[in-house]
Amino acid sequence: MILESTLTCPHCKHKETHTLEEKIVPVRYQCGGCHQSPRINAGDCCIYCVFGDYPCLQSQIEGASCCGSIN
Ligand SMILES: [Zn+2]
Ligand SMILES: [Zn+2]
Repeated sequence: MILESTLTCPHCKHKETHTLEEKIVPVRYQCGGCHQSPRINAGDCCIYCVFGDYPCLQSQIEGASCCGSIN
């Protein structure tokens, strides 16, 4: 089980590590580099699954390949 995911901003490539928390699957965050708020597309799981190097805990637990990050 991976408890941290490093998000890469799609706008400026700034990387920041977030701690994964169970049942918290944010759909956007504010980048610490460019201060824009990257959003996921409809149908995507969450920011960790889209922008992170590891998917959210829900996906890790269920083994869901919601967006191809695992499996
Ligand atoms: Zn950024
Ligand atoms: Zn997710």
